[in-house]
Amino acid sequence: MPDPTQEGHVNHAISRRTALKSAAGAAATAGLAKMLGGPAPAAAAESTPVISTERTKIVILGSQGGQNLTQVTGTALRCGTSVLIDVDGFVTVLDCGCGSTHRIAEAGYDLNRVNKVLITHCHADHIIDLGSIATLSWSSGRNGGEPDRRLKIYGPTGVDAYMRHFRKGLAMSIADQEGPLGQVPTFDKYARWHEFKPPRKAKKVYSDGHIDIRTIRVKHGSVPAVGYRIRTPDVDMVFSGDRGAVGDTFPQFAKGAEVLFHEIIDEDLVVRTLTAQGAAPTFIEHLINDHCNPATVGQVATEAGVGTLVLNHLIPGNPALTDDYWRALVAPHYSGRIIVAKDLMVV
Ligand SMILES: [Zn+2]
Ligand SMILES: [Zn+2]
Repeated sequence: MPDPTQEGHVNHAISRRTALKSAAGAAATAGLAKMLGGPAPAAAAESTPVISTERTKIVILGSQGGQNLTQVTGTALRCGTSVLIDVDGFVTVLDCGCGSTHRIAEAGYDLNRVNKVLITHCHADHIIDLGSIATLSWSSGRNGGEPDRRLKIYGPTGVDAYMRHFRKGLAMSIADQEGPLGQVPTFDKYARWHEFKPPRKAKKVYSDGHIDIRTIRVKHGSVPAVGYRIRTPDVDMVFSGDRGAVGDTFPQFAKGAEVLFHEIIDEDLVVRTLTAQGAAPTFIEHLINDHCNPATVGQVATEAGVGTLVLNHLIPGNPALTDDYWRALVAPHYSGRIIVAKDLMVV
């Protein structure tokens, strides 16, 4: 049974203090100790974009999986998982992990420009900022500047419940903005929520001349979850969301895409660390069963035949783990280009 709190616990468990303690102990390998003890890379944009094109720009807003902030002194935080896709100026945000609202602005986008939000599932690390994005993008176009603009939100079972409770919690603020402050359109006119049941066969979510979005169910414990395939005029991408190694048809769904964004868990490090901490075996099994280890991620990329694999939703999100470290875990299983996501990276 997936438990978002516990999922976050793993990253918390591999905080600096724990990691250093672990590195000093017998359980840690010499290589790991070196990695965690050495200078850490900043979580900032790097290198030349290889996926983005003239019409399509892809920005990593948040690169970490799990419900926590993995803080290592002297390094930049990774925000919760989120990717921005800008096609001809129309902006789609895929998942809304913690901090993604701020990252949109940091990436140079007015929140007013977000047209669509896609949610893969309702674990907190994918949805916690959705209310912020919906509300602040609504406010960004306030006072009738663009009364016809709308925000479309798509996601699997659970999204409606999130909306209802969020809407209720913010009722006083929304009523004030719509009433005395004169904001138009109303929040309910502005934010259009579209919940769907995860489909076993690929299903169209949205399509226009700029973007074509399809979805399929993925197996992520008992939580309704989906992956997405997004085609723009010049890029064909697929996004795994969170999923286990077995129990879905995602690898077939991904076939023929140019780029695969896949979540990843460093199984060996997580198992070693949590075992040393005395975590319940059922909890460890859950983490491993409902996410993909490096070998599986590489195999899915190979099977799909993609030219580029982007590792995102990193567990742990410890910024002291270098790009080379992550690449070395996957490289034996995939021979294409591997990009390790970092916040605000244009890929
Ligand atoms: Zn997650
Ligand atoms: Zn999840």
